[in-house]
This record gives sequence, C-alpha cells and structure tokens, in this order.
Amino acid sequence: MIKEVLSFGSRTDTGLVREHNEDSLVARPPLFAVADGMGGHEAGEVASEIAIETLTANTPAEPSATELGNAVIAANHAVIAAALEGVGKPGMGTTVTAAMVKGTKLVVAQVGDSRAYLLHEGSLQRITRDHSYVADLIEQGEITEEEARWHPQRSVITRALGGDENMVPDLYELTVGEGDRILLCSDGLTGMVLDERIEEILVNTPDPQEATDALVNEALQEGGHDNVTVIVINPSGQDQLVVEKAVKRSKASLIAFVIAFVIAIGAAVGGVYAYARSSAYLVAENEMVAVYRGLVGDIAGVHLSWYDHTTDVRVSDLPENIQERLDNGITFQSLDKANEAVDSYKADIAAAKAPGNGTPAPGPASGGAPDQGQPAQ
Ligand code: MG
Repeated sequence: MIKEVLSFGSRTDTGLVREHNEDSLVARPPLFAVADGMGGHEAGEVASEIAIETLTANTPAEPSATELGNAVIAANHAVIAAALEGVGKPGMGTTVTAAMVKGTKLVVAQVGDSRAYLLHEGSLQRITRDHSYVADLIEQGEITEEEARWHPQRSVITRALGGDENMVPDLYELTVGEGDRILLCSDGLTGMVLDERIEEILVNTPDPQEATDALVNEALQEGGHDNVTVIVINPSGQDQLVVEKAVKRSKASLIAFVIAFVIAIGAAVGGVYAYARSSAYLVAENEMVAVYRGLVGDIAGVHLSWYDHTTDVRVSDLPENIQERLDNGITFQSLDKANEAVDSYKADIAAAKAPGNGTPAPGPASGGAPDQGQPAQ
C-alpha cells in the first residue's frame, strides 16, 4: 500500500573552507526552499534569512506557481528594502529555489544558481535552469558542463534577489508520480558533486534524512569549498512503501536473503579496505595540520590509517569551525583532495595576513552581480 504521507530531510552545513554559513532554508510542508546568500559576512546570511522569512510569510496555503512566484517577488522587495534601511550591507543578495509539494502537484519558483531536481524512475532530472554566467555559456555551446565546474567566473550570478526591483522568478509546475523524489540544494552541493553521483546516492538511500546527510557528507568529502544546503522530499512516503515490500518478501525468501547477506558482508570487508586505501584525512597533531591516508578511528577494532606528512599549517591560524573539525579529523575521498584543502587553508591564511586585509580575499569581480565565488584552486 502506498502511504500518502510526505516525508523529507534537510540540512545546512558551513563546509570546510568558509567561516560563515550564508545559506538558509525552510522545510515546512507544503513549502520547501533553499537560499544562498551573497555579499560576505553580515550580508549574505542576512539576505538569505530575510528572503526565507518573507517567502514563508507570503506562501499560499495550496501549491500555486503564480502565487509562490509572488512570494519570491515579495522576498526580493524585502531584501532591497532591508539594505536601504541599513540592515545587512549594500549590495547583499541571495538566490531562492522554492517549492510547494502537495499530493501529486509540485510547483517551483527559481532565481539564481541553487537548483531543484526530480528523481523519476531512477534517473535524475534538473527541473530548474541556473541564472549564471556559465549556464549561459553552456547554452551557447561555448563550454561544457565539466569546463563550467572550474571556470573562473563560475560563481557569477545573472539573476538574484536584492538587486533589481523588477526581478521575476522562473516558474515551473509538474506532476509527481509514485516513487518520485525532489531535491533542492545550493551550489555547495552541485559545485562539489556530479549529477551522476547525486543520482546514485538518491537511488540507494530511500530515507530522505539519510539521503540528505549522505549528499552533504559527499560535498564535504569532495572538499566542502562552499556552504552546502540540501532538502530531499519523498512526496508520497516512498521509503515506507519500500520497507513494507521488503518485509513481505523476506518472509518468502529468507534463505536467499541470508545468502545475499553473507555475500554482502564479504564484499563490505573488501570494500571498506579499498575505501580506506583511497581515503585521506586531516587532523590536528602537535598544533599543526597533519595528513593521513585511510580512515579516522577504527572499524571493529581495526585501524586503517597511515601517516603521510605534517604540513606547515598552524591549527590556531584557521577559522574556529575548522579547528573544531580537525580535533576529530576531516575526511576526504583522496589524498589529492586533502592536499587541495591544505592549499586552500594556506591561501586563506596568506590573504588574511596580507597588509590591510582582515578577511580572506573575495572571489573574482563580476559585472555588477554580487559574487560568492571561491577562487580556483
Ligand atoms: Mg553557494
């Protein structure tokens, strides 16, 4: 039996490089939204919070693309008004990807480069179109998706809340079917994790909160260069459907299940070792950042960890949130990724110590649009 119960998971994380989280979210059915603020400290987070609050206050009771779009327009006016009143900072802005889900109806209002996806019959489909410079270049056939990931101007947004009074969002209306899943996320996920991998995680993780955590953790393991925000929605409680079917089936084929389980354990042991060999982590050691290959801690009493080298990065020079994470170890998918993170720490420390520069240097300047970029590694 399909239970017509919507379930969802949500999480936002500062990431491993940024000092502040400028993303905001709301997950209050039938409304779900992600906002990625820009403009720096005490601006980006203010803009994204105002946008989410105004959006929530203006959301209609029933899903309607036009009315949800009007709520996003109200949020735009609120961000502009706040900046004029001296709340936050001039030039602050934010993306908004807002969705309303009820029964089989899904409506989306979209501004900026946060995204909405639909997982339909096991395949991930992008619902929204990015309002970004690189998205325009891709559509014009000038660059590929892969080139866009490393393009120096990949963080330039061509439409956002907080700039233009006459800004209008893109609107989408869809019908969702049995087993479909919806993903909303900031570019802290999509800049770090390829669509194919996102699809794989969603397909293999029925529980929406577990899927959310797996996606955020994947972005962190890939380097966590940006704030990352994820909402996963199961419109018709599909996770419960799978569990009920699995229970029924296991009674009928218990022996097959036991055999499969034994094979799975054997594969898991080999898999964990292979995974450990390719993984790496950073940890605080004698007040310096040290690089290890393998996994933090032990698995069933077995250590799978090999010392690589100690860097010249002093733990006390790093932002507090990174210092805290270093106490327990920060895991990466490869030694290269761990070394990349060390390089980005060095660059940020050097920028902070440069004369007349209290904070890390911002990304490349953009043609009038607020920029939230992380310089290319
Ligand atoms: Mg971002």
